[in-house]
Amino acid sequence: MGFAGQNWFINAAALLQTALEPEDLLETLLAVEQDFGRVRTIKWGPRTLDLDILYYGDKRVDSPRLTIPHPLMHERLFVLAPLAEIDPGWVHPMLELSALEMLERLRAMDHGQEIEKVDI
Ligand code: AMP
Repeated sequence: MGFAGQNWFINAAALLQTALEPEDLLETLLAVEQDFGRVRTIKWGPRTLDLDILYYGDKRVDSPRLTIPHPLMHERLFVLAPLAEIDPGWVHPMLELSALEMLERLRAMDHGQEIEKVDI
């Protein structure tokens, strides 16, 4: 994906089953990012690994540390394209649109985002 002048990066979506509450899941993901040697430089700048929680069932979380669903997920082609492959029918609890519908809406807009599917 090429976006806002950044270099291309690889993005993927995964569905998880977990007994962890959202805050504890975030802690775990942050620890994994640390293990991958992520160095924070500029906000939204290049990074080694960035793990985000897109949604957690139909739960809503709005705390200083965590917002679920992820507030930018519906604006990002590199999020919606892989998500729509694995969970097209998931419905955003606030927008009331499925992952596939969000993808189709974004595709129909002049979003300036370029993505390319790769097999790894
Ligand atoms: P960034 O790495 O720039 O995406 O920001 C990471 C920070 O965003 C984390 O330390 C979290 O506290 C916060 N955050 C808020 N909502 C989320 C979310 N849904 N998934 C991951 N991080 C989140």
